[in-house]
Amino acid sequence: MEKKDTIIELRGVSKVFEDNGFKAVDNFNLEVKRGEFVTFLGPSGCGKTTTLRMIAGFDKPTEGDILLNGESIVGLPPYRRPINTVFQRYALFPHMNVFDNIAFGLRQKKTAKDVIVRKVKHVLELVDLEGFEERGIGTLSGGQQQRIAIARALVNEPEILLLDEPLGALDLKMRKEMQLELKSMHDKLGITFIYVTHDQEEALTMSDKIVVMSEGRTQQIGTPEDIYNEPVNAFVADFIGESNIFNGMMTGHLKARFCGGEFSCVDDYEEGTHITAVVRPEDVEITKPGEGTITGVVDSVIFKGIHYEITVLSGRNEIVIQTVRNATVGDRVGLRVDPENIHIMLAEDHTNKFYADINPDFRLEYNGHRIETSLTKIIRGSKRREDGTVVDAAGEVLEPGRVRILVSIQPQDIEMTDDQDAGLVQGTISNLIYKGDHYSYIIHTELEQDFVVDDEDLWNMDDRVGLLMPVDKMTFTLKRK
Ligand code: ADP
Ligand code: MG
Repeated sequence: MEKKDTIIELRGVSKVFEDNGFKAVDNFNLEVKRGEFVTFLGPSGCGKTTTLRMIAGFDKPTEGDILLNGESIVGLPPYRRPINTVFQRYALFPHMNVFDNIAFGLRQKKTAKDVIVRKVKHVLELVDLEGFEERGIGTLSGGQQQRIAIARALVNEPEILLLDEPLGALDLKMRKEMQLELKSMHDKLGITFIYVTHDQEEALTMSDKIVVMSEGRTQQIGTPEDIYNEPVNAFVADFIGESNIFNGMMTGHLKARFCGGEFSCVDDYEEGTHITAVVRPEDVEITKPGEGTITGVVDSVIFKGIHYEITVLSGRNEIVIQTVRNATVGDRVGLRVDPENIHIMLAEDHTNKFYADINPDFRLEYNGHRIETSLTKIIRGSKRREDGTVVDAAGEVLEPGRVRILVSIQPQDIEMTDDQDAGLVQGTISNLIYKGDHYSYIIHTELEQDFVVDDEDLWNMDDRVGLLMPVDKMTFTLKRK
């Protein structure tokens, strides 16, 4: 196979908007090969459109360079670049027919009439709308309008086609159809596509290469398989497909503790390193209760057509499993994961996190204990109205049964006590590591949840302790169920 050369390259590209000083794109580096299908994937507001606009020439980078075939193009106006863009809002001229919409750019360039006719006919064939020249835009379906928008970009014979969420306005069925068509159009034309979407499934099915973005930064660049199988951080893992994500710690050579058990793994970090473990639902195996690394109770079973989606509760931990084997709600089961299916990455922080419930009179509860704090501290901006209902800062009514609170607390803010009935939760010390000026402990609680606690004093393995958590050291995040 011939080696493909680079058609476009972004080198350290950043964009700060002058009006608000906001850095929408931060040090973006990318090489796109000729003929590749590259997708920018990320949540709304992560800088996808801004990056595309800089490639097209509608925006100028504040830093860095954009090279086309090895030469800088940041000084070139959009119409001098062999690049065309298809936008989500098709931006067709509603008062013109299909022919005039597609021919518009060519007429501006004073292309000969017979050439225009031939080219329009050709691109209409490409998008499977031959004979539509005389149709009015208003008589076309959404899918057909989108094809016209694509035809209008293709008629300029660009080297690179930029597509900014082009299928966003279509319904699911139409979107799936157009995905396949765009992919086959790409294969047929052999030109380079740079595609933007926030839909991970769309990115995985269409692309040769995916650029996962978050908050203006590229998180990972790779093939769909790379991104899916070897996410480099918890953001990518969470964004691409469904994942079980646990906080934990390395407890020895190729051993990691998370989700209330000690698992063998193939990624090694120093003992005591705080980690995030990612396990795909299809990689969790259900065993007999005694044969797994952890045990739990089947909480829900949903048939999804080809597989079952099963949720198992192990204490407070929730594990999602995809399997072709059925299970019964209420069954006690064991769970195991092959070491190579456990993806270990460095944790960004060491924060303990747990879910607390809101009871009907809007008090916070965990493990049968009250967390004494006020409603406004738990849900910033919330108010109790005269009729007794509670609304959040946006004025939306909060129903106690429909929300829960994610509580975060740092390891150094939890205090251990040997008064075994004291504290919010009790457990036993299952690991301890000396960290130079303090010890870092893992407390395995009755709720199967592990807590990381830093303490200057030396405690013993298997000591039973209560965990005191000062409410003023907690931070609260509202989560809707
Ligand atoms: P995406 O396409 O990934 O949804 P955008 O590239 O459109 O994201 O926007 C990234 C961020 O930059 C957003 O927070 C957006 O509000 C901001 N932004 C976009 N355009 C401008 C602008 N012209 N001036 C100021 N901020 C902008
Ligand atoms: Mg956008």
